[in-house]
Amino acid sequence: MGGVGKAGWMREEDAGRAERPDLAGLERQELEALLRARGVEPFRAGQLYRWIFRRGVTDFERMTDLSKSLRASLRDGFAISIPRVAGRERSSDGTEKFLLELADGRRIESVFIPDTPGWTFCISTQVGCAMKCGFCLTGKMGLVRNLTAGEIVGQVRVLAAELGLLDARFTIVLMGMGEPLHNYDETMKALRIMGDPEGLAISPRRVTLSTVGVVPGIDRLAAEPYMPNLAISLHATTEAQRDLLVPLNRRHTIADVVEACRRFPLRRRSRITFEYVMLAGVNDSPEDARRLVRLLSGLRAKVNLIPLNEAAGIPFRRPSDGTVDEFGRILAEHHLTVSVRKSRGRDIRAACGQLIVEGPARSAGQRLAKAMEGG
Ligand code: SAH
Repeated sequence: MGGVGKAGWMREEDAGRAERPDLAGLERQELEALLRARGVEPFRAGQLYRWIFRRGVTDFERMTDLSKSLRASLRDGFAISIPRVAGRERSSDGTEKFLLELADGRRIESVFIPDTPGWTFCISTQVGCAMKCGFCLTGKMGLVRNLTAGEIVGQVRVLAAELGLLDARFTIVLMGMGEPLHNYDETMKALRIMGDPEGLAISPRRVTLSTVGVVPGIDRLAAEPYMPNLAISLHATTEAQRDLLVPLNRRHTIADVVEACRRFPLRRRSRITFEYVMLAGVNDSPEDARRLVRLLSGLRAKVNLIPLNEAAGIPFRRPSDGTVDEFGRILAEHHLTVSVRKSRGRDIRAACGQLIVEGPARSAGQRLAKAMEGG
């Protein structure tokens, strides 16, 4: 097989060395400990971090502030993995969707959104998603597996390098594929790696974690020293309505989620974002708007209205602009800060809820589903 790994992603020379510890998924202290155990001075961890995360270098040979012999022994002992860009599509509005292939051949999508007003990277935390929200395509895939911290940060490394933004200031939204609080430990580890001042140095204030409302996860997040901004995918104003749209609501109800938000410690001047996908005739009435005002009363909240991105297989419609405006007007009248999410990258299926991968690597469940529909 010519030295090529099973997913065809490894370089020839890397074959056979696949078990080398991967430096790309380690916090700096872990890297220090690993180096120390191999007789390398721990301060080298800072140098390695700068190469890997700040300069986007994965080839030890290019790490010119390390001695030749150290470079050689690092190369023999360790790997620095990075997801492979398997596809890249650019929308007419400048949004770019990256199809990334992981070491095991699984594929995920990450999206670059310019002019937000800055630059935003929308990053995945799982391959697929277990939440099965009724209007989301990713949910249709089911959960294939969690991403590792290295794979989560790897998306940021790839996008920054590909887009020439390694030195730029960008924000991160964990709003790609997956439910971040369903993959809590690896997600938080990824945020700590991204935050390291020797590396990408992304302050948690520039990171927003979006959750469908995993209450124990929200409570855990509340105690984190490294705390991102919080966004809640609410989408409904009555329990009955949300039960139908977001199956997790049967376990963690609107009341529970809002309660968890009330005890969530916010930094000065920061607020919780409530995302609200608007579905024509389902959750877009003036009564819904007024119920939403009551639900959020007393919370430091802002509301992000997301008119549905329609897709084949999604049994809902997008409301008219007039309906969206009227809904937003009622919220604003009651002193809620409202924004309407511009739909970005719809022409390349990179918009919210449109991330799905039908690559060659399917889970057993996906293969079965596909076989049953005769595809
Ligand atoms: N699982 C997390 C992170 C994903 S964020 C969460 O649910 O918050 C993706 C956002 O896009 C969520 O707010 C989701 O509800 C929304 N979304 C999903 N499908 C959509 C669609 N078809 N149109 C518009 N927004 C959608």
